[in-house]
Amino acid sequence: MKHTDLIIIGTGPGGYGTAVSAAQQGLNTVIIEAAALGGTCLNQGCIPTKCLCRNAQVLNDLKEGDLWGLTHLTYHFDIHKAMERKNEVVSTLQGGIQTLLSAPNITLVKGTARFVDAHTLEVENPHDATGEVIEDPFFSAPNIIIATGSTTKFLPIPGAHLPNVLTSTEMLDIDHIPQRLVIIGGGVIGMEFASIFSAFGSEVTVLEFCKEMLPNFDADLVKRMRPAFKKAGIQLVNQAAVTAIESQEQQLFVHYDCKGNSSTIEADIVLMAVGRAARTEGLELEKAGIHYDAKGIAVDNNLQTNVPGVYAVGDVNGLCQLAHAASFQGQRALNHITQTPDQIRFDLIPSAIFTQPEAASVGLTEAACKERGWNVKTCKGFFRTNGKALAMGEPDGMVKLIFDEEERLIAGHIYGAHAADLIQELVPMIAAGYTLQQLRETIHAHPTLGEVILKAAH
Ligand code: NAD
Repeated sequence: MKHTDLIIIGTGPGGYGTAVSAAQQGLNTVIIEAAALGGTCLNQGCIPTKCLCRNAQVLNDLKEGDLWGLTHLTYHFDIHKAMERKNEVVSTLQGGIQTLLSAPNITLVKGTARFVDAHTLEVENPHDATGEVIEDPFFSAPNIIIATGSTTKFLPIPGAHLPNVLTSTEMLDIDHIPQRLVIIGGGVIGMEFASIFSAFGSEVTVLEFCKEMLPNFDADLVKRMRPAFKKAGIQLVNQAAVTAIESQEQQLFVHYDCKGNSSTIEADIVLMAVGRAARTEGLELEKAGIHYDAKGIAVDNNLQTNVPGVYAVGDVNGLCQLAHAASFQGQRALNHITQTPDQIRFDLIPSAIFTQPEAASVGLTEAACKERGWNVKTCKGFFRTNGKALAMGEPDGMVKLIFDEEERLIAGHIYGAHAADLIQELVPMIAAGYTLQQLRETIHAHPTLGEVILKAAH
């Protein structure tokens, strides 16, 4: 049995960054990984989708060739090349993680871990990064961080597992552009893939269960993004409850109920994008007495489970399925282990969706503020009056700022070009308790998209 200071299960954003920080602080750390380095973010999530988003952007720009003075354009989009580029980006970043995890006091163990007891793990077929077998499969530590992420989820309906019903994982390796793509779920994954594949030339229909797609985003933003999705040719069907999928001669038939009517839509490929589930299977958490349910492993504010010394960070605890949330949760868990106080604000986690147009958000939506009975004030600014946005050919966008009764900034919602980068300005402002007046007195460079934030404050 190898005894160490800390064991981390999983090399996603919750795992590898925490291992590096732990090692820097002198903790001998074993990090165990069953699959490729980098977790969902690098292998099936953020990074590969952002590569394809970039292909989609380029294609959309080419479609507006006249605007850019590109006349008589002929081009052919080769999805294989797009996938090759995506794979190269992923492999470059995997190499980076491999280098980070080769630090002297980190031991990377490849294999599948399961609990033997609260402080001991057994690894199935353990080997090192070079493939060399590790003889002793048992590892023990006073502290263990579970960072095993999440897996794709299927609706419990007939036909959910038919061959051409794919999840985002398989879509990221698809070798052709489906003519008709039906996406079940108009959440973050569904809408990102809708944007990507409509740009690639698929006829895309999104079936969303709620009254509006992107139900977690501010309704004001989503309402304004709708025309852009429609212009891109994406059909949006809200209040659609999918009941079954059938297959006949390579065609899929998706049956759904919408406002009391039953309908069927044909598809070549169906993308199931109805959320992700915490990856707890096979960990044998019961052997360690760790409490968990279908949402994930239960944790406290320090990300500690009910078992002292055992932590769960990232998607596996079901608190917030975002890569950056996972890495900061890992940091908090490590800080608790090393008894280092921190000021990380888990109530201020920005999020972004890389559709066209992009959208991003930090803090509560206006509706959520009102549900809490808060008397809030909103200010809006629009891209259409911003010099940089017009020069970029990106006039569609809005910044919405939410202030409390004392005119302190408490939330921000943005859609439009580079929304995901713009949102970052608001996070430290909210954390510092910036007032409307202070924001108005903050000089912004000209000409930049950031000036829309200033404009909104005026
Ligand atoms: P999600 O929860 O964002 O969206 C799932 C959608 O499916 C919801 O809109 C829901 O109403 C809908 N739905 C559920 N059941 C349905 C049914 N029977 N018929 C039709 N629609 C149904 O989940 P997701 O899009 O699968 O993403 C999973 C997680 O990954 C999310 O937590 C998300 O934050 C994260 N993610 C983040 C990013 C990003 O940060 N850019 C990108 C992709 C995924």
